[in-house]
Amino acid sequence: MTSQQWQERYSGAVMNTFGPPKLVLARGEGAHVWDVDGVEYVDLLGGIAVNALGHAHPALVAAVTEQLTTLGHVSNFFTSAPQVELAERLLSLVGPGERGGRVFFTSSGTEANEAAFKLTRRTGRTHLVAAEGSFHGRTMGSLALTSKDAYRTPFEPLPGVVTFVPYGDEAALAKAVTDQTAAVILEPIQGEAGVVVPPATYLAAAREITRDNGALLWLDEVQTGIGRTGEWFAGPVADADVVTVAKGLGGGIPIGACIALGEAATLLQPGNHGTTFGGNPVACAAALAVLDTIEKDGLLEHATAMGERLRAGLAADERVAEVRGRGLLVGLDLSRPVSAEVAAAALARGFIVNNPTPDRVRLAPPLVIGHDDVDAFLAAWPEILDDAYGGPQ
Ligand SMILES: *Cc1c(COP(=O)(O)O)cnc(C)c1O
Repeated sequence: MTSQQWQERYSGAVMNTFGPPKLVLARGEGAHVWDVDGVEYVDLLGGIAVNALGHAHPALVAAVTEQLTTLGHVSNFFTSAPQVELAERLLSLVGPGERGGRVFFTSSGTEANEAAFKLTRRTGRTHLVAAEGSFHGRTMGSLALTSKDAYRTPFEPLPGVVTFVPYGDEAALAKAVTDQTAAVILEPIQGEAGVVVPPATYLAAAREITRDNGALLWLDEVQTGIGRTGEWFAGPVADADVVTVAKGLGGGIPIGACIALGEAATLLQPGNHGTTFGGNPVACAAALAVLDTIEKDGLLEHATAMGERLRAGLAADERVAEVRGRGLLVGLDLSRPVSAEVAAAALARGFIVNNPTPDRVRLAPPLVIGHDDVDAFLAAWPEILDDAYGGPQ
């Protein structure tokens, strides 16, 4: 079966929500993947910030295999050691200290946000504040907090009373939050918007503004969390009320978590929320293996070093107007709106990158990516831009 034949079968059987797939992939190893025709690619997107340990990492394979051959699924009438251990581990990484916290496990980012959305309703308030450019997921609740009109409009009316404010603007946030506001939800760095980093004081100001109004501060770390930015979390999570994570947590095994801190941890009570798959022992064992490996192999430091190398190399070309991000969440602005052409040219040269907006390129490679792959991409970068811009500028 060739890629083309699989593409035809795909379009006949799989719902067309994503457009035609760019590749039909067969296997992966580390930061490399191969398609069914045997063509090799360097994966600089990592399943959109998911494959933290790359592909087929032995520690993840061993953890999942061992758990699945021991106990695969139990339902939430029961618990298992991996679930309890992972909840404790996440709380210790968030570090709320005396305030303490509790975790609700899910199978995706949007579900982690749904849990948090429902939690905010238990404050007795319904008003929420989110940011322009935000992305929080595609289920109805998360979509209500996502600003992009093209995603929202076909599905209105969406739940909730949501005010959108310009991202990074402290004064606008202070104006929008009142004593009727249940929560403010913010990404510490906006991922889907193309890696937008707010001013250094913004998240601390958000904490102050929410505290003054008795509102919860909810940080959506679904994309930025679990080492992506060279730290466990990109935002001041220890001071937050709710932190949601998913993407990198399971290293490719579906798992998310809504982590509530202090008094917010007891807002959801028995009967208020549930899930069949959330907290599944295999998913929790996978996440524990991801956390262990990040720690044991020094991947936070490695992500910081590789990210700096990438950003410096990418910025060297004058067709790059700005490079942003931290660690291995990298975004850049092109001098012209040719990001789709850049992604296509990169793919033709064996590199997977992403074009979240017409003039922005995003990279979120596995945290294990090596110098050799980074350098190979940077060596090809001027040629990729030549292809996309229609010749050297
Ligand atoms: C991807 C993402 C989500 C949604 O996660 P899914 O697993 O796709 O449901 C939510 N918030 C942020 C910040 C994300 O990047």
